[in-house]
Amino acid sequence: MPARIYLTRSEEETISLGENLARELPPRGVVLLIGNLGAGKTTLAKGIAKGLGAAEPEQVSSPTFTLIHEYSRRLYHVDLYRLDEEREVETLGLDELFEKDALVLVEWGEKFPRLMPPGRIEIRLEHTADDARQISL
Ligand code: ADP
Ligand code: MG
Repeated sequence: MPARIYLTRSEEETISLGENLARELPPRGVVLLIGNLGAGKTTLAKGIAKGLGAAEPEQVSSPTFTLIHEYSRRLYHVDLYRLDEEREVETLGLDELFEKDALVLVEWGEKFPRLMPPGRIEIRLEHTADDARQISL
């Protein structure tokens, strides 16, 4: 798939983009959401969850402390922000999660490239100005 770049101008637009992307994401696989704090990773995850009918946007938050959220059997959301060591990540059982018949969204997964599956999809988010975000696939 050639790289595609979107520009959103509000949180709502990013949620809508996530809803649209949900239609073309594979039913199983790993999607890394890559970008700084506040870039909109969790906001895009809200849209994807809504698009898949797995959760309402209000139910989606960064699993910063719980590390893994299960929204439905088909959608999981991981946040590795707080972890620094590969061995900490290895205790989470991500390998098992990645084998499931589910889509797994991962924030900060790029910190541990060796532990992420080879066939992953990467979505990059960048805070370009005020409420503008550039989102590339
Ligand atoms: P991350 O998970 O990358 O740390 P969040 O999605 O939690 O980021 O937060 C993004 C913040 O930026 C939210 O407070 C949101 O309201 C705000 N925001 C402003 N403009 C946008 C936009 N175009 N897309 C996404 N979020 C936006
Ligand atoms: Mg987040």
